[in-house]
Amino acid sequence: MGVSVSVLASGSRGNSALVESSSTRILVDAGVSCRETFKRIKGLGEDPHALSAILITHEHSDHVYGLLVLARKLKIPVFMTAATHQAWSRAVREATGDRPALDKLECFEAGRGFQVGDIAVMPFTIPHDAVDPVGFTFRVEGAKLGFATDLGRLLMNVRDHLRGCDVLVLESNHDVEMLRNGPYPWSVKERVGSPTGHLSNKQLAEFLANDYDGSAAYVVLAHLSEQNNHPELAREAAEKALGSRQTLLHNRVLLAAQAEAMQPIRL
Ligand SMILES: [Zn+2]
Ligand SMILES: [Zn+2]
Repeated sequence: MGVSVSVLASGSRGNSALVESSSTRILVDAGVSCRETFKRIKGLGEDPHALSAILITHEHSDHVYGLLVLARKLKIPVFMTAATHQAWSRAVREATGDRPALDKLECFEAGRGFQVGDIAVMPFTIPHDAVDPVGFTFRVEGAKLGFATDLGRLLMNVRDHLRGCDVLVLESNHDVEMLRNGPYPWSVKERVGSPTGHLSNKQLAEFLANDYDGSAAYVVLAHLSEQNNHPELAREAAEKALGSRQTLLHNRVLLAAQAEAMQPIRL
């Protein structure tokens, strides 16, 4: 079977991805409904009941919308930081009046690695306007996979964690011009473009052109804004940045979508 990565959904209306080894299957974020998550996993020819654990990056609804129902249905461990758990519980309580109970809650801390089956997980802090947001790297069967979306900047600690990855799932949220001229109210534009907001095509391209180590066979552009970006603009910016470095021509740029699951990347 080997290692595979599938982005099930990506964007401000819900995020979720599947990271698999021969024996372990992790759902990274649960931002779409349980029903839709199941549908997309089955669409890839996989069994949602075979999931081993759910990992949560932060409490924003586009990352936790389906969490409670998924956790109740699957009865598998849910990993998040204690602060994220608290913020999520409060939000659910305010919305429903009920304190959400997770049977198998596992709290982790950014910077401290842990194991899910045979997958070694390393959570790391990212700059984003949530209580304790993280990105992840996963190491298994000799491969390293890096996930960093929902971040306003690529700080040095993030760049360090992303070195040596065979697959990178990185945010390419908005085109700066489209955001500036787009329909969002000024306060939202400010938030998205701030150092704790979302990464632009340009910021990602700068990283790819100047600081990226070139290790990834696949660079997946994720969390694209439907209002303030266009998939071809994001792709063009990333490919141009990679193309500026001869040694990176083997890197493939893929686009994660909101409406449908991406075909799995198999290593
Ligand atoms: Zn998000
Ligand atoms: Zn967020």
